[in-house]
Amino acid sequence: MIRQKSANVPVWRDIYSYAKLPANLQRIEELSHNLWWVWNPDAQRLFKRLSPELWEKTEGNPVMLTKQLSVEALDKISTDTDLLAFLDDVYGKYLDYMNRPVDKTRPSVAYFSMEYGLTNVLKIYSGGLGVLAGDYLKEASDSNVDLTAVGFLYRYGYFTQTLNADGQQIANYEAQDFDQLPITQVTDEDGNPIILEVPFSNHNVYAHIWQVKVGRIDLYLMDTDIDMNSSWDREITHKLYGGEWENRMRQEYLLGIGGVLLLDKLGIRKDIYHMNEGHAALICVQRLINYVQKEQKSFDEALELVRASTLYTVHTPVPAGHDYFAEDLFGKYMGHIPGQLGITWQDLIDLGRENPGSDEKFSMSVFALNTCQEANGVSKLHGRVSQTMFAPVWKGFFPEELHVGYVTNGVHLPTWATERWQDFYKKTFGPDYLENQVKEEMWSKVQKVPSEEIWEIRQAQKRDLIEYIKQTYAESWAKNSGRPDLAMATLEKLDPNVLLVGFGRRFATYKRAHLLFTDIHRLASIVNNADRPVYFIFTGKAHPADGGGQGLIKHILQYSHRPELLGKILFLENYDIRLAQKLIAGVDVWMNTPTRPLEASGTSGEKAEMNGVLNLSILDGWWYEGYRKDAGWALTEKRTFTDQHYQDKLDATTIYELLENEIAPLYYHREGKKSYSEGWVQFIKNSMSYIAPHYTMRRMLDDYYDRFYNKLHDRFLTLTEDNCFHLKELVAWKENVANNWDALKVLEFKQYNENINQNNRINAEGIDKIVLKIDKGELKCDLKVQMVITRSEQDSNKMQLLEIKDFKQLSSEQNRRVVVFGMEGKHSVPGHQKIGIRILPKYDLLPHPMDFAYVLWIAPENI
Ligand SMILES: *Cc1c(COP(=O)(O)O)cnc(C)c1O
Repeated sequence: MIRQKSANVPVWRDIYSYAKLPANLQRIEELSHNLWWVWNPDAQRLFKRLSPELWEKTEGNPVMLTKQLSVEALDKISTDTDLLAFLDDVYGKYLDYMNRPVDKTRPSVAYFSMEYGLTNVLKIYSGGLGVLAGDYLKEASDSNVDLTAVGFLYRYGYFTQTLNADGQQIANYEAQDFDQLPITQVTDEDGNPIILEVPFSNHNVYAHIWQVKVGRIDLYLMDTDIDMNSSWDREITHKLYGGEWENRMRQEYLLGIGGVLLLDKLGIRKDIYHMNEGHAALICVQRLINYVQKEQKSFDEALELVRASTLYTVHTPVPAGHDYFAEDLFGKYMGHIPGQLGITWQDLIDLGRENPGSDEKFSMSVFALNTCQEANGVSKLHGRVSQTMFAPVWKGFFPEELHVGYVTNGVHLPTWATERWQDFYKKTFGPDYLENQVKEEMWSKVQKVPSEEIWEIRQAQKRDLIEYIKQTYAESWAKNSGRPDLAMATLEKLDPNVLLVGFGRRFATYKRAHLLFTDIHRLASIVNNADRPVYFIFTGKAHPADGGGQGLIKHILQYSHRPELLGKILFLENYDIRLAQKLIAGVDVWMNTPTRPLEASGTSGEKAEMNGVLNLSILDGWWYEGYRKDAGWALTEKRTFTDQHYQDKLDATTIYELLENEIAPLYYHREGKKSYSEGWVQFIKNSMSYIAPHYTMRRMLDDYYDRFYNKLHDRFLTLTEDNCFHLKELVAWKENVANNWDALKVLEFKQYNENINQNNRINAEGIDKIVLKIDKGELKCDLKVQMVITRSEQDSNKMQLLEIKDFKQLSSEQNRRVVVFGMEGKHSVPGHQKIGIRILPKYDLLPHPMDFAYVLWIAPENI
């Protein structure tokens, strides 16, 4: 019999067919591949005009949009003279912007971060850290700074969030098609992809490089998901904060070592290297290798050069939040490094330990602190918290003496102020308002604006938000809950005349999203108040491994379905930049309830400031310094209870009271015939005048230059001038101190004080006179001798630093080998104190004592 059928399985090949843009529309291609459009509403309007439907469908992705335009649509567009004129106009503005000269007076910067939040279209961020980095690049562009950034192009990025009917978070990871994103692959002259080779301990990992144009700034992203790699290595750049601990090790290896190799490959060299969080600390390893291998520096010289050009910004206020790697995992990836540096394994791993020689895990933060001359926290309070957190790294010093400083985070004004507000700012402050955005004088002009005008903008923002919520969530809620009636009931009560409070952030437990639900009856009475109702909108993702955070989401969603709260408390899924822009600008009050002092800075409240939205927050992070009376509301700064449960209860009660007695009454108050609250608008005016100017990204960038970049760069130049004269001098000096410090001896110690008695009681008026004779042995350096006066804090063993007094060098003998120091002074502070005397090495080229942390405390046995 003849076989009647034959077919093999179909073989498909993916092809994409894109209509080619006609010549007069090529500029659209260029515009869509530069994220300048993200903060220029006219450019967005241009894309939207090409196809309003596709603009919605692609969630505002102009690259995807243009690729989906049909030939007919393109024909129509290319003959639409109105549209072409608009294109000319936008393109002209773009060129003007791009052609501004780079500011060569400021040091150039290489910036490294695990995440960048630039637009919701590029899913390479998870939350605040990324948005901060994204805003920083935008401002660097606006400020004409010479900066290049490095990060990862994640295949799956961070997850998108949906909730099932019970409120269980479902994390969806969707593979990104890189051709549809506003990015460009970096190729050689022949158009072949450039391949970055990153040597791991026993094989190479390869990466493609993608360029994101952020206005005038280049961001380069590494992508290991390519055929040349094993499937194991391809996963390195699959997910942001996903995968096992070993993958984190591999990512940080790639970000640090690969990141610097990437810049080498592209021929990019900068003055300052800045790590946004400790994830990028291994940049110092590759830079050390470069100095040792390519420039024949000794390890010690290399370390000085790296230190004098690297800044470490820490974002995490608790040690548990930092990355630690066990020695065997660290060794698996870093074992070949010491050989390249000419140091031992012990030397390397000890650079990442608080206690060298112990069996502690390798800490990325400690390594960062030991290889960066400067470090900073991200708000004033967090700077102080970081000093305490890092104190064990520099023994012999007090936390408040440490060089760890701070720069308070800010937000990119043109990204976060809505177009309506930007038009208002232009009109009220002048067309160059962005140039003056850090000046209080400019913002205070808002005080003279008629109050209706501000109220009307606020109302329009609220209507926008409500419209957006209805459009975005009606369908998905009906589908996910299986209860269309519930979805309807939830949405129909939204009303721009109701006082709206927003809460949106990562659902980490310390952010206490649940605080409001402490007393459900009280909450119900607030939302159902007939004259002064207050509604709440929540949003945020919990990390997929954070069960606690996911539990909170579930709780809130379930509460929101209770009859007495339905439609008055909403939870919106999938918090991202797009939703943040609508939500933060659309509510009346932005609420934040972190456990103090765990909010390093927080930035969403700053975004609220730029939109006339008032903050209600714990005095933590940026709000600790930002809060002004009559311009928002604050929960007390003092921690009252050590028991977190009581503290939560107290804070919840305070929030209810503020809402009931101050916030709602102010919002609903009407004077005479006015249809708005004059008092409320006055709060908005105050917050714009006194708070907003200090929390822009422009201010933050300037602070980084003033406090860190300029200083570092000056030191680097000093070290390298005259053929590295000072570098060699410094290293020789440190070597001498290191070799001879232990032989330092105190020969004589005399204290004269007529008023001191047997029981160590001192007459405060009495004169204290101390003379100290020190034998330096072979030590060649000058010394600093200090009296340190402290007091024990009442209910803890912690010592509080009261005063440091320097001794004077009185004379020297035996060819400066023996030196005599003395001091004379009154005891100015009464009460029980502890007094100690310490000796430090002294040298002009030391930027601060922690840079070479040798301390000898004098004890009787030294004498
Ligand atoms: C601004 C922003 C954050 C950070 O908010 P915090 O107040 O710092 O917690 C997180 N996610 C998105 C999408 C943001 O826009």
